[in-house]
Amino acid sequence: MAFLDKINDFAKVATEKTNNAIESTRLSVKIEGEQRTIDAIIKKIGEYYVAKIDSGEILEEEVMSMYEGILSGREKIEELRTEIESLKSPKEVPAEDEPAKKICKNCGKEIDASAKFCLNCGTQQ
Ligand SMILES: [Zn+2]
Repeated sequence: MAFLDKINDFAKVATEKTNNAIESTRLSVKIEGEQRTIDAIIKKIGEYYVAKIDSGEILEEEVMSMYEGILSGREKIEELRTEIESLKSPKEVPAEDEPAKKICKNCGKEIDASAKFCLNCGTQQ
């Protein structure tokens, strides 16, 4: 009988261990839930103060220096969005412009605006 008692005890201990593990996991899940709630509140508090700074309020130096990170992040987002926009609608390649023209001050012929001499009469422009 002593042998069976031992096995019984062993089974009892094993069951208890399993139950404890389940209970422990259940409690850990609860802790994670509470932590998520806390994190969400921390985020809300952050957003509350960021909104204040956005509207011009000056807070403690440490907070303001963290806020710098938000500003530079927003700037980067703006740049990246612009980049995405340019991918959506590639800039129209400007049609090869006719070179600018001017009128020769001697003969009145149309010549390139950059020409130093008239190709028609040779007058310096
Ligand atoms: Zn000319």
